[in-house]
Amino acid sequence: MRFSHSRVECFEKCRYQFMLRYIRNLTTIFPPAADNPLIVGSALHLGLEKGPTAMEEYYYSQYPVINDFHINEMIKLTTLVEKANEVLQELTRGKVSIFEYEINFPEFIGYVDLIVHNGDGSADVYDFKYSNNIDHYLESKQLHLYKYYLEKQGFDVFKLGYVFIPKTQIRQKKTEDLYQFRKRLTETLAAMQVKVVEVNYDHSKVDGFFQRCHEIQNESIYERTPSRLCAWCEFQKYCEEEIDFMLLPKNEKRERKMDLNPDKWVYGDSYVGKSTFIERYEDLLMVNTDGNIDNLTSPVVRITDEVTYEGRLRKEKLAWEVFLAVIDELEKKDNTFKRVAIDLVEDLYEHSRLYIYKKLGIDHEQDAGFGKGWDMVRTEFLSAMKRLKNLGYQVIFISKELTSEITLKNGNKITTIKPNINDKVANVLAGIVDLTVRAFMDGDERYLQLEKKENVFGGGRFNFKVPVVKLDKDEFIKALRGAQEGIKTYSRAESAKEAAAGETTGNETKEDGATATAKGDTNGDETSEEETAATTTEETTAATDKPEKPAKRSRRSRKSGNQLTN
Ligand code: SF4
Repeated sequence: MRFSHSRVECFEKCRYQFMLRYIRNLTTIFPPAADNPLIVGSALHLGLEKGPTAMEEYYYSQYPVINDFHINEMIKLTTLVEKANEVLQELTRGKVSIFEYEINFPEFIGYVDLIVHNGDGSADVYDFKYSNNIDHYLESKQLHLYKYYLEKQGFDVFKLGYVFIPKTQIRQKKTEDLYQFRKRLTETLAAMQVKVVEVNYDHSKVDGFFQRCHEIQNESIYERTPSRLCAWCEFQKYCEEEIDFMLLPKNEKRERKMDLNPDKWVYGDSYVGKSTFIERYEDLLMVNTDGNIDNLTSPVVRITDEVTYEGRLRKEKLAWEVFLAVIDELEKKDNTFKRVAIDLVEDLYEHSRLYIYKKLGIDHEQDAGFGKGWDMVRTEFLSAMKRLKNLGYQVIFISKELTSEITLKNGNKITTIKPNINDKVANVLAGIVDLTVRAFMDGDERYLQLEKKENVFGGGRFNFKVPVVKLDKDEFIKALRGAQEGIKTYSRAESAKEAAAGETTGNETKEDGATATAKGDTNGDETSEEETAATTTEETTAATDKPEKPAKRSRRSRKSGNQLTN
């Protein structure tokens, strides 16, 4: 194996990650966040070497479409590269310098960011770091290795140093518009300083590197080393969920399987018996919002505002926060529930609205301006619902119905019936479940409407053979079977939690269903993209400042010895 500083550093951090990356040669598709450290780090190196135009072209070419977040990153990069160039001009003034010099030995490869010839035969060696984590790099073996190998190539290395280009993590606040944020960003950047920090050569670091290389050669067990750095590991999802990484499936048709426990949304008028119908299912957790729980026998979690007192201090936990806490608990999978019913889902939507109002300090969505309030409420609510869906339990939504009259083109009026929730939210919720059905009464009988009617909200992926079915679990399952005749049976609710354990019940075959958990983080003042993109911490920087294989731009493809004279 040919070694590099980053390889050995990876081995020291986590052997399992090392094995995935360097032995199984697995790569991941990195998230397209505007501040993706791989892309930003490569762009910055390019900016220092080839100038702002090359940097800009490279950076923008990495994304399918550019938005305000990318422009924000480019503002940072342009300012910082300008500042760094002033420092580099000082270091290289009147001297011959080489950017991106490749050290190439059969057993070692490395790329030196800058070599400055001093004119007396000696040379200074610098590495660029886009990071505030100076202490981490002062302990690194990297520059010591560079000196060792450069001297083998005939260089007389005099100084070793890092050029630290500082990072800012500031993000747009909810209370700030883009103009205000960029003004604040520009002020912050103006106050930042590029630092050159020299290090003294320490041969024991080189010895330590060789020892590690020896260990790597003799290693056969690659254990996981969980740490806070896992949050920035590209294999985290696959490692923690023990998914056998990204290998393509066999090129063969998958067998269709019968689903008798689809995720569903049942709505209807009050007292139709929706909750009673759902209650017939075993291993059910009822998440109840309206307090009508006296007739329920399933375990219930009440979703309501919680007020507690500590001495004279009144503490309020909003109902929405209680619901998020329930999702957190379900996420642990430390329970025996197989399905979760939300009764009533529209109440939860209202709770999410109140939560966002409180967070933004507003009384209505419109107070947040330009549709932002509506967007935030929808995002908050739907992210939590999708998160719940992705946990692998069978999800059941229960709603009341709303009737309204619409006027057709010819002047006729018809009554439409739909769940009692905002239309846009309803459409997304219907997409989250497999089936949306209306429960209704006809005389004393109660039914589920399975047939699609244009004035009744509903539908799904089943081709039911009967237009209606009695509001009864067994009858409903019979209708599901009829709709999927000829398809092998399986149970989703059982599968997600039990397939891994290889359990089977009766003649049911379990679906193998590892699903990713999309945890909708909603803290802080940041905008949603920033939340997902906020992975650029000191640790990330330490781990990925200078990737061995940067995105698209391959350091190996660039010629070494690119000379520049001031
Ligand atoms: S997630 Fe953590 S334990 Fe797993 S491979 Fe990555 S660094 Fe190692």
